[in-house]
Amino acid sequence: MVKTSGEHTAFGGASIDLDNFAHAVVRTVWEPVLVVTAGLKIVAASEEFYSTFGLHSKEIKGLLLQDLDEKYWDLKGLHNLLTTVKKGNSLRDHEFLIDLKNFGEKAFLINAESVDYLSNQGLILISFKPKADTRHQRSKDIYYLKTVRDILSNAPAMICRLKGPEHIFELANEQYFDLIGKRDILGKTVREALPEVENQGFIELLDIVYKSGKPFIGNEISIKLKQPGKPDKNAFLDFVYQPIFEPNGEVSGIFVHAVDVTEKVSVRKKVEQSEQELRNMLETLPAIIWLTDSEGTTKYMNKNWYEYTGQTSGEAEESNWVDAVHPEEREKTNRQFGKAFRERKPYHAIFRLRSRKGDYRWVIGRGSPKFTIEGEFQGMIGTVVDIHEEKLKEQLIRDKENRIRAIVQEATVATAVYTGEEMKIEMANDAMVNLWGKDRSVIGKSLREALPELEGQPFFDLLQKVYNTGETYWGKEDKVDLLINGRMQTGYFNFTYKPLRNEKNEIYGILNMAQDISEMVNSRELLKQSESHFRQMANLMPEKVTNTDAEGNLIYFNQNWLDYTGIEREELVLRGWSHLIHEDDFRKFEKKWRKSLKTGKNFEMEIRILGREGKYKWHLSRAEAVKDDDGRIKMWISTNTEIHRLKEEEKRKEDFLKMVSHELKTPVTSIKGYVQLLLTLLRRSNGADHSKLPLQPSLERIDHQIVRLTRLISEMLDLSRLEENKMVLQKEVFNINDLVTQTVQDISYTNTQHRIDINHEYRCSVFGDKDRLGQVLINFITNAIKYSPESQNIKIQVKKLKEDKVAVCVIDEGIGIDKEDQKKIFKRFYRIGGESEETYAGFGIGLYLANEIIQRHNGVIEVDSQKGKGSEFRFILSVASEDEMITKEL
Ligand code: ADP
Repeated sequence: MVKTSGEHTAFGGASIDLDNFAHAVVRTVWEPVLVVTAGLKIVAASEEFYSTFGLHSKEIKGLLLQDLDEKYWDLKGLHNLLTTVKKGNSLRDHEFLIDLKNFGEKAFLINAESVDYLSNQGLILISFKPKADTRHQRSKDIYYLKTVRDILSNAPAMICRLKGPEHIFELANEQYFDLIGKRDILGKTVREALPEVENQGFIELLDIVYKSGKPFIGNEISIKLKQPGKPDKNAFLDFVYQPIFEPNGEVSGIFVHAVDVTEKVSVRKKVEQSEQELRNMLETLPAIIWLTDSEGTTKYMNKNWYEYTGQTSGEAEESNWVDAVHPEEREKTNRQFGKAFRERKPYHAIFRLRSRKGDYRWVIGRGSPKFTIEGEFQGMIGTVVDIHEEKLKEQLIRDKENRIRAIVQEATVATAVYTGEEMKIEMANDAMVNLWGKDRSVIGKSLREALPELEGQPFFDLLQKVYNTGETYWGKEDKVDLLINGRMQTGYFNFTYKPLRNEKNEIYGILNMAQDISEMVNSRELLKQSESHFRQMANLMPEKVTNTDAEGNLIYFNQNWLDYTGIEREELVLRGWSHLIHEDDFRKFEKKWRKSLKTGKNFEMEIRILGREGKYKWHLSRAEAVKDDDGRIKMWISTNTEIHRLKEEEKRKEDFLKMVSHELKTPVTSIKGYVQLLLTLLRRSNGADHSKLPLQPSLERIDHQIVRLTRLISEMLDLSRLEENKMVLQKEVFNINDLVTQTVQDISYTNTQHRIDINHEYRCSVFGDKDRLGQVLINFITNAIKYSPESQNIKIQVKKLKEDKVAVCVIDEGIGIDKEDQKKIFKRFYRIGGESEETYAGFGIGLYLANEIIQRHNGVIEVDSQKGKGSEFRFILSVASEDEMITKEL
């Protein structure tokens, strides 16, 4: 025993000597001995005491004896007995039953002796001798008890012993006490000591064991126990209720051996629970899940499989899951699974699986090998997911795509689809491939790869823009240079770049449709050219050419129009030219033109159009509709041909005819008058002297008129001959001076009022038709007479000109001719307008004939004249031979 200073004070003021004494006493005795003070406070105890009663010095030192009583044993009588000992009496072999902790009741013989050590400080020595034990037996018992106690307290189990049919706790080890929360249970029935187990079935079990004598083994039995001052304890126990038999074979109690397996159970439960949770999860997953063992046999399939296939659990698990696969994919699927299983590799397969309804649906099966942490192959785990709708949709899309592909392929419009940023040629029909001048090997390539010649042309940028902005591009008559048959060729195309979008509205490609319009552009170019040719031609034409659209709106005027009117082309196009039409022609023109526009029939009319000089000139206005193949009017082309001269000629002809009839009638009337006069006179004279009748003057008048008539008729004959080119000249060499003299003489007979002087400055012969040249001369002289009403002097000159020419000139002092008219008087039927026309009889063919005759003699006819002063007409001929000069005759 270890002594410390603290122990002295703890012993309530006992002196050191008393303590030493007490310990000395207890050390010397073999039996369990306890030393207490007169006040019954524990001072010391022997080793035997501690081991016999299972106590420690710490637990009891300083305690009062009654405390020990209350705490460790029920020995109330001892306390009273010891008070007698204090008074000097001793206690001898007093039998007491001591209820030993964990061991039950034991009978002891107690001896006590009061020792007066110091006057007031007496001690009481108490020895405890187990009853009826021989010394040997006692020591054996004590040894046995010790051993059992050691075993029990060191055993890793909870042990107790129950006595009698009421199951009274007789003994229990430390672990058992720990289990029940160190409650005071010894000597009490189970029902009393542990009231909470009343309804947990244990008491009933104990009853059965007690009655039957058969042990009960409980595994992982749950028990709920109260723990004073602590929350209730739930424990799992493995336990044995072993009946204890008396030597007579009767059951006297039950030995309880229990092991707390709470932790093991809770770990296992946790594992079980998490496994259950996993399983639950697997069951609730919207996919089929399966597991095989390491042999490949199906170990688990979640309920989805059974629900899906309608297979029962037996069917599926014996690898008959393959039976549910569509016969067409069965072998392949099995092969795929088998291969993955053998190689311990993941796999996936798409196949049709028979549903419980009997139809097959597309699914995707995936599997992976499963290994333990140590790397041991445990089998395969996998899923089966229904992809039927997706697959059908995919099939539909594929069908649709194929259809589109077929349509695109068959389309006559060149069509291509490009995908991705790099513009991969996804699709291109033959029309497009031909348009590119490539072959089908371009499909699948990027556009840059397939058509490198487009580099530098705007199309890649355009495509990129469409791809980025999503805005369709329309190309109109865009020029594209393509490498066709190794040669760069230019084409013109109408085309679209249209963005293609997926269901998410994202652009994934571009649809290109193109139409080759090169021919149209080229032919339009040609048309433009031919139009410009037409314009050039139109400008060269002597006519005034315009063209209008189908409705008659003016489009074009040729140069002649501009020259004639002096108006700019733009103004003409704007204002038209109808305001230039003479007002007398306008109404008719409008009516006719409108009718033509309506009917499409050709237009033709003579109209007067105002020229830049302010004069109207006659035009033949014609218009013709240009029609297309269907007979629809495309445009009108109209020409205005100037016919002013023709028109004038015509008028002259008309005037001529009027005049001819007049001129013919006048002499005939005159002749008739004279003849009637003479006949009347003859009748009246009745045979009288005819010489008194005015025969001569009347006949002369008649003759004069006949001459006039003859001349008229011969002029007209000449005219028709000339027109028919039948004038034949009887050429000879003759003296021109003689012809002049002769002619003047002839004229002078009938014309006595005028004085005609001839001046033969030169004499010569010419080679020509004497009568015709005479006719010319007559015309000159009669004109000189006719157009000189106020002057009687006429001169005729024959003069030599250089280069062997001779000129015959007839000079008058008459009315003269102005410059303008001088050019025209040699034309057919031309007569100077104004008063002369009426005043002077004539047909306007004399000078025309004269001119024709002289030209046929390779001669020249000329006029010099001044209005109001007189005129000189002359003809110039080649000299055939010079003749001797003769003195003037007249
Ligand atoms: P006509 O029968 O009218 O005289 P011509 O051919 O002989 O026909 O003459 C044509 C026109 O020339 C005449 O109408 C006249 O106006 C003009 N003419 C001809 N000779 C003269 C002249 N000597 N003096 C003035 N005018 C003349």
